[in-house]
Amino acid sequence: MRLVALREWMLTTSSRACPYCLAERPVWPLWWRLGIAAVCPVHRCLLIDLCPTCGIRLRRGNHSNQRGLLSRPPLPGPGECGNRPPGGPSARGGRRGGLCPQQYKDMPTVAVDDSLAVLQLRVLAIADGAEGSVAGTSVSSSEWFASLRVLTAMARLASDETDVSVLPGYMAQAVAEDRRRRQTIRSGSASHLGAMPATAPHAMAYLALASAVLDAPNFESGAQTLAPWARRQADLQRAAGVGDRLRKMRRPAVINEMMAAVAPRSSRVVGALAAVRPVGISPCHVPHLADAADYSELVAAHLPGTSPLWGRRFTALALARLAGASSWPRAAEVLGMDDGKAIRAATKVVRRISDADAFWERVTLVAERLQERGLVDYAARRAGLADLCELPDCALAPVFRPLGMSVTPQRRRHAAAWIWQRFTSGDPHEAPAYRQEWGNATAESIRAGWWRFQTRLPAPAATALDAWGIVHLSGKGIS
Ligand SMILES: [Zn+2]
Ligand SMILES: [Zn+2]
Repeated sequence: MRLVALREWMLTTSSRACPYCLAERPVWPLWWRLGIAAVCPVHRCLLIDLCPTCGIRLRRGNHSNQRGLLSRPPLPGPGECGNRPPGGPSARGGRRGGLCPQQYKDMPTVAVDDSLAVLQLRVLAIADGAEGSVAGTSVSSSEWFASLRVLTAMARLASDETDVSVLPGYMAQAVAEDRRRRQTIRSGSASHLGAMPATAPHAMAYLALASAVLDAPNFESGAQTLAPWARRQADLQRAAGVGDRLRKMRRPAVINEMMAAVAPRSSRVVGALAAVRPVGISPCHVPHLADAADYSELVAAHLPGTSPLWGRRFTALALARLAGASSWPRAAEVLGMDDGKAIRAATKVVRRISDADAFWERVTLVAERLQERGLVDYAARRAGLADLCELPDCALAPVFRPLGMSVTPQRRRHAAAWIWQRFTSGDPHEAPAYRQEWGNATAESIRAGWWRFQTRLPAPAATALDAWGIVHLSGKGIS
């Protein structure tokens, strides 16, 4: 039983309790002995761990050894603590035999938010066998609890003031207490990092911290929430010269993937960025897709298994970081890039880099090529072409008719997309022309149409479209 009790999140020799519940009915629900028992969902209060009078855990009996069932008088009343504090005046006898007289119903409680009561109910349902969810992925009850345990260990190791600043004081205090103990937790003692939260406030704090990742709407945002912990954990481990302190803990696949997405490779890549010399480009000079030839000649070898499209997108993000963006999400923001795609590129592609220094060296070369060719304000071009959804008939007719091509509504839109991608160097599928409804055309048929249009576009027509784009932009004062 001792071994099981050390491993599992359960109280074997004591119980938490809600004084209001006990005042209504002298029944001790079994779930109060679970390590995840933190609040009473009925009375919206924190459960109590220690008797305020004797300072001993409820139902424990005695500090040093557990009491078991009392069979000889004096017996405590049903509503009384009945613990036997050590060295009390009546420890060896007296009228009450040294039993603590504290009434459960009189124990002071701490009120909690409704949201915490709801969280507690959900955790209890999962403990009862209901399916859980980790960042949008359905998992079994046991996988959910394994995830909670790993996240608790990470929070113990790597959470900081900002993480707990949003929590009520009693929870923040509980985490701070654990953080102070962290210094004394030696490497390899993963069992301690994943051990049961000591008290109801601890349990509530770790449930709340972990729920930021567990209840994230999708993988990307879960990984994003986890990223600062993973980074700090990697820093701490590097500073202490120890390996992964959580490696022995069971990690459900989804947690593993998230940690792989954000930890140490990603932080190594970002760490190596600090050593890179500054380049003379601003984020506005970075296209959404790095030049195809630059990418394949310089960067592709460092991103094995990455499609050119995703590789070029990631290289653009890396250029934005060279240009000063302080994080991957910030890089996406300064580029005005689609958030989901940027995060996917940053979390997944970054893992494939094995030599971070060489990678940044190559990205610096890409930046130098941008400078050699003459810097282009891509941000201004994107803004200038943001409403170009189709080319006017009068612009296409003189170009297409002599080549024996008719001017159809589809071609007017494909031509707009062609100009957009030509001048912004963006993903043509993100062109404004493709963002609107195309009658009842499907996404696939539009893609196929684009492919036909751009591969079969005669050279003179391409030159004419190019010229139209230059005039259109310069009309708006953009070069
Ligand atoms: Zn209650
Ligand atoms: Zn007591």
